[in-house]
Amino acid sequence: MTKYASVVVPVPLRTEFTYSFETDSVDLLPGMRVMVPFGNRKIQAYVIDVLDSAPSGDFEIKPIIRAIDKEPLFDRKDYELALWMEKFYFSSRGEILDTMIPGGRRDVVYGALDADNAIPRPDVVLSGEQENAVRTVMDSDSSMFYLFGVTGSGKTEVFLRCAEEVISRGGQVIYLVPEITLTHQLALQVLKRFKNNVAVLHSGLTDSQRIAQWRKIKRSEVGLVIGARSAVFAPFSNLKMIIIDEEHENSYKSGNAPRYHARQVAQKRISDCGGKLLMGSATPSLEAWHLMQDPSKMVRINLTRRVGGGSMPKVVVSDMTRENGIFGPLLQEKMHRTLADGKQVILFLNRRGYSYYFHCRSCGYELKCPHCDVTMTYHRRRNLLQCHYCGHSQRPVSSCPQCGSMDVMYSGFGTEQVEQELQRLFPLYRTARLDTDTVSSDRSNIQRTLDDFREGKINILLGTQMVAKGLNFPNVRLVGIVMADSGLMIPDFRAEERTFDLIVQVSGRSGRSDSAGEVVVQTRMKDNPAISYAVNGDVEGFFDMELGVRKDTSFPPFSRMVNIVVRSTNAAAARKAADDLASLLRGGLKDTYVYGAAECPIEKIRASYRFQILLRSQKPASMLSGLNRVIGEVKLPYNVSMDIDVDPVDLL
Ligand code: ADP
Ligand code: ZN
Ligand code: ZN
Repeated sequence: MTKYASVVVPVPLRTEFTYSFETDSVDLLPGMRVMVPFGNRKIQAYVIDVLDSAPSGDFEIKPIIRAIDKEPLFDRKDYELALWMEKFYFSSRGEILDTMIPGGRRDVVYGALDADNAIPRPDVVLSGEQENAVRTVMDSDSSMFYLFGVTGSGKTEVFLRCAEEVISRGGQVIYLVPEITLTHQLALQVLKRFKNNVAVLHSGLTDSQRIAQWRKIKRSEVGLVIGARSAVFAPFSNLKMIIIDEEHENSYKSGNAPRYHARQVAQKRISDCGGKLLMGSATPSLEAWHLMQDPSKMVRINLTRRVGGGSMPKVVVSDMTRENGIFGPLLQEKMHRTLADGKQVILFLNRRGYSYYFHCRSCGYELKCPHCDVTMTYHRRRNLLQCHYCGHSQRPVSSCPQCGSMDVMYSGFGTEQVEQELQRLFPLYRTARLDTDTVSSDRSNIQRTLDDFREGKINILLGTQMVAKGLNFPNVRLVGIVMADSGLMIPDFRAEERTFDLIVQVSGRSGRSDSAGEVVVQTRMKDNPAISYAVNGDVEGFFDMELGVRKDTSFPPFSRMVNIVVRSTNAAAARKAADDLASLLRGGLKDTYVYGAAECPIEKIRASYRFQILLRSQKPASMLSGLNRVIGEVKLPYNVSMDIDVDPVDLL
């Protein structure tokens, strides 16, 4: 017998499509995936409904190519979440299902699941503050909680205890972390503790392993799922808690369509299932800080003390305004003293490569990537100039490509140059560098370097973000922030918030087990609030001040924003389409400021010219419904495309 399947496909069209199939060869159910012909391609589609008769209409119905699954992979509830996201994030239901459900995308394999390698964790007795935190979460009727705790205050232990308690009452828990590999300390700890009751959705799984985990979750064979952003979609049927560790991290927001934020999806899922949302960080996002001002919205729980002996480090500023070198005298002297005492140093710089600015002193020429509006970074070891946006690389130049002058210079230092300087200044000590250049070829490098550092084989660990997060080394007494200002020049209203977070998080790596922990912050902008509040350790002061600024200027969280980027390899076409769209939006949106169209801060990426329209409103429902309407009417030229980002975390 011939039947019909309504399916959705991962293309930017918000409709269902109908295909036919023969019941004597396949048995299709809603929730399965099928391969279908689409235009002149074959693509994976998701079955939403199975019908006995063809829907009426004047179109040709093609047969499916084959079924992919033997049993359903998703259900109505998952689909409804996709429909909710479609309205919210301006992606299609098909694209969203394709993101929610592990499928034919990316992924590399490195290592399989092996719980026996887990490090045993000595049983800890909760501190009074931790005990109070667990009881508040478990015994209160509220649904949103924030664990606001200094670095090293034992937030993880509180999360795990809450998870255990929810599971022991028959509930299921999703635990989100910014990123996770199987060698992640937390993954090992959780595997040890929850044994067969946990699914770890780590970055080393293949697609088929991911699907196997997804099915396990669907059948409720585990009570706990731990994973990065997309684990928020884990298809538990008795979900009772979602935990978001390091809630402020930008990696919870997807950089590609659908541009969802895991925190928002978590809130939606929790309000649907009547469970609890538990987030935590030492440096909350302004959005969360705002919610915490009203305990009926979100209950704040403070952890003010470090567990396990250490105390908060002493932070000092080193004014670099008159310095030319990479290391000022203060940081150098403290490094010498720390190393002489047999203690370790972590250095942080948010910029890789050797130098990133090539400049001609005769004609003013600046060398930029031919495809992007960004300067090329010089990588010394490979002797290449590289674009960090598109990956384009070329040989370095020694004379000006524009006027031929030899009076040229490379300036601006990155981690590669800092490493060289370290070898010159501290020849007797062992240094290791961790950034995407040193680990991209071999991921196991990270673990090896961290193990060597833990064992004391390395004295100075230098790195980018990679050394800022979550690391816990008892022997680290000094943290140096080589240049705290780099993030402050970025034209983004979140630049200060981000710089502040980073300084506090990096500082938190110091003094984990002794009371002599120190941090040196090198800066040319010591009076900038992001720097001065961080140096004073006044986290609440900074957030209160920054919240005041956002309120006065009506920026998020006191308004919502949408960033629309219109791009094309043809600059004039992009500009015209963006201008046309901006005037449609000005006419069609109520209660909304429409800025632009203007060139994006980075005008060109991968040979596409980019124009930006920013929307801002204190009545988001009105803005979003208006935007939905206008977008439905717009027809872009064939050579122009558009990205819509709701609540953007990146405005470049
Ligand atoms: P945070 O996430 O708040 O920065 P962690 O969860 O990393 O802090 O905890 C810091 C360290 O303290 C970890 O090594 C953890 O195992 C340990 N720890 C947690 N709770 C306790 C406790 N009650 N007693 C002793 N050590 C603890
Ligand atoms: Zn020149
Ligand atoms: Zn480029």
